[in-house]
Amino acid sequence: MHVYDGVVIGAGQAGLSASFHLTRLGVDHVVLDANPRPGGAWQHRWDSLSMHDVHGVADLPDAPAPGDSVERANVVVPAWFGDYERSHHLPVVRPVRVDAVTDDEGLLVVRAGERRWTTRTLVNATGTWTRPFIPAYPGAETFRGEQLHTSAYPGAAHFDGRRVLVVGGGASAVQFLGELGPRTDVLWVTRRPPVWRDHFDENAGRRAIELVQERVRAGLPPASVVSVTGLALRPQEQEAARLGVYERRRPMFARIERDGVRWADGSFEPVDVILWATGFRPAVGHLAPLHLRSEHGGIALLQSGADVQTATTALRDPRVQLVGYGPSASTIGGNRAGRAAALAVRRHLLEHPLEVGDERALA
Ligand code: FAD
Repeated sequence: MHVYDGVVIGAGQAGLSASFHLTRLGVDHVVLDANPRPGGAWQHRWDSLSMHDVHGVADLPDAPAPGDSVERANVVVPAWFGDYERSHHLPVVRPVRVDAVTDDEGLLVVRAGERRWTTRTLVNATGTWTRPFIPAYPGAETFRGEQLHTSAYPGAAHFDGRRVLVVGGGASAVQFLGELGPRTDVLWVTRRPPVWRDHFDENAGRRAIELVQERVRAGLPPASVVSVTGLALRPQEQEAARLGVYERRRPMFARIERDGVRWADGSFEPVDVILWATGFRPAVGHLAPLHLRSEHGGIALLQSGADVQTATTALRDPRVQLVGYGPSASTIGGNRAGRAAALAVRRHLLEHPLEVGDERALA
């Protein structure tokens, strides 16, 4: 049995950044990724999302990000990640979907079906894409139309001629309304009135990240960084704005019926499609056997420095780093966290050398 110094789970921006820095620090590790190809979640983004539409993809360490273009993000970013993995000789193994990470007398065992990797430390970089979130509303199962989530958005043409209800107050909802508004009948509902921002400078960005970190520090499940940055309409959304799509927003309905949705005041809107742009949750179910969650349901992270995006170490188990989680759940955050995690891994390895008599490591 080989005992790795580190295992990284996930080869998106955060996992690649971690692997780059682990390699640089000479840490013997492997990266396990569930996808059959490079690209992390980007390979699954919808076809109409161009490099011009994305909210900014940060550079990877030692590799500038592809620039603004009309090319598809789900092609450009995966190709860039693939080149990166090859040119930096990152030890990515795929497809490997990790089911569970368990503790075996001080060593971590990463399990995927019958396969096992034993390691002294773990960097979890599994993102959120594999855990789409749809809130429960009474009557959802009786709806005769189509319901789908952001993660399955098939492009605007799919909705032509149908009345679409977009649910959610985040960037994806704004973008879908921008695409659908000019070509079909759309309605928009959100839990809270949207917060529109005029400008978004560095201070506003820092404050948004701090808000997420405050939750994580308290052991609460993280909100997404994007959810606290506020919303802005881009040129792509101006036509829908001109048509009044964003002004016709309503609060959440109370229940779903066969042909539409009903509010608490009894009013009803018939709809053919409910598009749930209701976000994602951190994909950390495989870490459950390590009992990292606080009583509030989130995984609290240790914060040692002033930069909240470099808080990566699980409070309840310093062998485990979480990157792309909470305050580092953005491409720039994933990058910073990847470096911080690699440094924390090395520190842990130095402070906790393997016992000479550890037969598992010497076998
Ligand atoms: P991911 O890219 O999701 O990579 C995680 C990897 O882990 C995947 O390859 C996945 O297959 C793998 N994995 C998951 N579970 C397992 C498992 N159990 N075993 C093995 N492998 C596993 N951020 C920005 O900064 N700019 C943007 O423009 C932007 N646009 C976004 C658009 C949308 C629609 C969404 C949902 C998010 C967007 N974000 C954006 C936020 C985005 O999630 C992050 O920026 C970043 O892409 C996440 O990188 P990551 O490495 O953390 O995760």
